[in-house]
Amino acid sequence: MAETGKFDVVVIGAGPGGYPAAIRATQRGATVAVVEKEKVGGTCLNWGCIPTKTLLASTELIAHAREAEKFGVKITGIEADWTAIMERKQSVTDTLVGGILQLLKANGIELVTGAAMINKDKNVVVQTADGERVLETSKVIIATGSDPAELPTFDFSQPSVMTSTDALALDHIPKSLIIVGSGVIGSEFACVFSTLGTEIVMLELMDRMLPTEDSRIAKQMKSSFRKMGVDVRTKTTVEEVLEYKPDSIKVKLSSGEELSAEKLLVSIGRKFNSAGLGLDELGVETDERGRIIVDQAMETSVDDIYAVGDVVGGILLAHTATFEGLVAAENVTGGNATMNYHVVPACIFTTPEIGSVGLNSDKAAEQGIDVIVSRFQFGALGKAMAMGEDYGFVQLVIDAKTDRVLGAQIMGPHASDLVHEVAVAMHLGATAEDIANTIHAHPSLPEAIMEAAEAAHGKAIHVAPPRKK
Ligand code: FAD
Repeated sequence: MAETGKFDVVVIGAGPGGYPAAIRATQRGATVAVVEKEKVGGTCLNWGCIPTKTLLASTELIAHAREAEKFGVKITGIEADWTAIMERKQSVTDTLVGGILQLLKANGIELVTGAAMINKDKNVVVQTADGERVLETSKVIIATGSDPAELPTFDFSQPSVMTSTDALALDHIPKSLIIVGSGVIGSEFACVFSTLGTEIVMLELMDRMLPTEDSRIAKQMKSSFRKMGVDVRTKTTVEEVLEYKPDSIKVKLSSGEELSAEKLLVSIGRKFNSAGLGLDELGVETDERGRIIVDQAMETSVDDIYAVGDVVGGILLAHTATFEGLVAAENVTGGNATMNYHVVPACIFTTPEIGSVGLNSDKAAEQGIDVIVSRFQFGALGKAMAMGEDYGFVQLVIDAKTDRVLGAQIMGPHASDLVHEVAVAMHLGATAEDIANTIHAHPSLPEAIMEAAEAAHGKAIHVAPPRKK
């Protein structure tokens, strides 16, 4: 006999989309169960954001230590201990996973372990280790996320071929690495491994790396990668694999060149986890790539079934998943919330970091919006100079008619933190003048945002005026 249980809301998936949705629904008075087939925290905590940032914290420390002499500090014997680096990564991840388990418990949320699907009565059926369990419910939130997309060119059972998940479980630092795809994930791994001495060739099918970023950022990042020793090849991909060996791979590139490396990382995007949930039988609409179609309330084409996070496509970021989860949680508990994607900061934790929000200059031009693009270089900023991190810039995209800030692209020190000043300004509908008129502490990195805002009106103090003829 199947064990049952009755809940107001059942959430499938305990990643950054699912577990906050469960907590918010509970805060609003609902009885909630969360079903998770692997680990709470999902991709973000276990195979994504947190493990990559933990590795980057180690490699950034190494990079800083190597530069120490420039700061008058002598450090000798700098050495990476991969086992210790990976142990630290695991310990950070385990602590955070433990924290979520405690939060679920403290909120009275039942965590059911196993793979879930939704039956024709819109109840959730879970295959647990002890057999099938039916969770009776009136509302379901699907937050099943995504997995690394694979390319048919490669045999992923070969030890030399890796997804991002495999790369986070390596037991040694590879001597050489081919990275297929120069997006966010591939670029962050390039920074980790190039600092650790891995020889890297990065392949990008499009005509520039980081193809979804602002073209100026992509261009400068390519030169920064070149300085790091990463060989970025655009308009290039792997045509075929010539040889798999236990400890290497040999490929033929679209340029005709043959290339060998110890490992090859495929980072070309994500596939959406909507299969096996019973969606077709229920009539829940998905698109040709398996993304679940939702409206602004995060409700699917079937009443009372909601979907959030990576599985709905769009912006595949943890904080977007969380906000979508909170909107769904509000709506399954009698609320009337809608999701707004107007201000979504996106950060890339490369060296240098990138932080962007809203419209970029390329998109403004494509959409025919009359904008002022105002820039300030970190090279002219005291704090950045003092830190020895004066590479990069702040770029504001400002509506030429209203002076409202429509977007920002920041490349440089702490760009992932800085971008939030602009995000708040945009959320409040602030103008460039509002930012310029806000006193910023000196010396600080946010002064670069103030100067970029001042520059939009020809008032930046640390930008030389155009030469008089
Ligand atoms: P997921 O986190 O994928 O969680 C879905 C959960 O559902 C999983 O735990 C899964 O086991 C479970 N599940 C799936 N199917 C079922 C089922 N049938 N029954 C029960 N449980 C099920 N984003 C950022 O914002 N910042 C970053 O720095 C960042 N870095 C990243 C680095 C890497 C290498 C990767 C791969 C991703 C990164 N991301 C980052 C993206 C981020 O991880 C995702 O956008 C986010 O995890 C999506 O959250 P989610 O809840 O929708 O899905």
